[in-house]
Amino acid sequence: SKFTGRSRVTIYDPQIIDADHSGESLAGLLAHAIERQCISVVYQPIIQLGTEEIIGYETLMRLKGNNGRLVKPDIFIPVAEQNGAIVELGAWVFEQACADVARYKLDGVIAVNISAVQLKAPGFALRVAEMLARHGLAPAQFALELSERGDILGQSQAAQTVEQLRKLGVQIWLDDFGTGYAGIDCLRRFELDIVKIDRSFLPDGRHPRDVRMLTGMIQLLRSLGRTVLVEGVETVEQKRLLEELGVDLAQGYLIGRPQPVSEFIGDQKSEVA
Ligand code: C2E
Ligand code: CA
Ligand code: CA
Ligand code: CA
Repeated sequence: SKFTGRSRVTIYDPQIIDADHSGESLAGLLAHAIERQCISVVYQPIIQLGTEEIIGYETLMRLKGNNGRLVKPDIFIPVAEQNGAIVELGAWVFEQACADVARYKLDGVIAVNISAVQLKAPGFALRVAEMLARHGLAPAQFALELSERGDILGQSQAAQTVEQLRKLGVQIWLDDFGTGYAGIDCLRRFELDIVKIDRSFLPDGRHPRDVRMLTGMIQLLRSLGRTVLVEGVETVEQKRLLEELGVDLAQGYLIGRPQPVSEFIGDQKSEVA
C-alpha cells in the first residue's frame, strides 16, 4: 500500500519526537551526528560597549535532522546531557573552534559552552589542554562558559576540573547568571573572569522595577570585581540602557547573529596566508 513505510502520515512535532522523519529517535541522531556530519558550529560576536569593538565570539552548536531542518539546541542539548552524548559533541565543537581559529587566525576570545556533564567526565581538562596544544593555540584565547544544569557544578569533581582549567590558563565565564542554572551561589564558589547576565533580565522597555533589578545585578557583579556581559540585546533602546548602566560587554541579534565562520572571515581575510 502507498501508506506504508516512509510515506505514512504522522502528526507530531519533528523537533521533539522524531528528529529525522524516518523513525530514528533524537538520541539515535545524536549518537551518529559527528560521523554523519550533522553537527556544525556557528559564531556570535561579542562587543565592548562604547568602543563597539568585537572582542570575541561565542560558539553555538547546530544539529541538522535527516529532514535537513535544524533541531533547536534547547531540545537536543538536554537529551545529549541526559544520555552522555554531550561529552563527544562538546569536544567536537571545541576541536572545530580550535581548527577555525588556527586556520583563519581569528582574533579575540572564543567562548565555548561547556555542559556540567562534560566537566564531570574524567580527563576533561587534559583533553582541552591537548586540543589547544595540538593546534598551537594560547589557552587564554579561549573561555569556557559554565552553566549549572542539574547542580553538577556543586560537586567536588567539577570544582577540581575548573581549578585545573584555570591553571591551564583558559578563561572561566559564568553563563545564564540570575537563572536557576547559575545563581548567586556560583559567584562565591568560582573565580570567574566574566559573568553573563541572562537575557531574561534585559527589559523590553524601561519599567522601573525591571531596570532596578538589572541595575542591582550589575552593581553586585561590579562590586565583586567581575566583568559584566549582557546577552540577548535586540534593540537599540536596550543597548543604550546597558551603556548607561556601565555594562562592559554585550551580545545579541542587534549586534550580530550566530553565523558560520565562512560568513565573517571576509573581515580578516588579509591575515589568511
Ligand atoms: P546560551 O548559552 O544562553 O546561548 C545563547 C542563546 O541565545 C543562543 O541560542 C543564541 O542563538 C541565542 N541568542 C543570541 N542572541 C539573541 C538575541 O538577541 N535574542 C534571542 N532571543 N536569542 C539570542 P541557541 O543557539 O539556540 O542555544 C540555546 C542554548 O543551548 C544555549 O544557551 C546553551 O545553553 C545551549 N548550547 C548551544 N550550543 C551549545 C554547545 O556547544 N554546548 C553546550 N553544552 N550547550 C550549548
Ligand atoms: Ca552561553
Ligand atoms: Ca547564556
Ligand atoms: Ca540562556
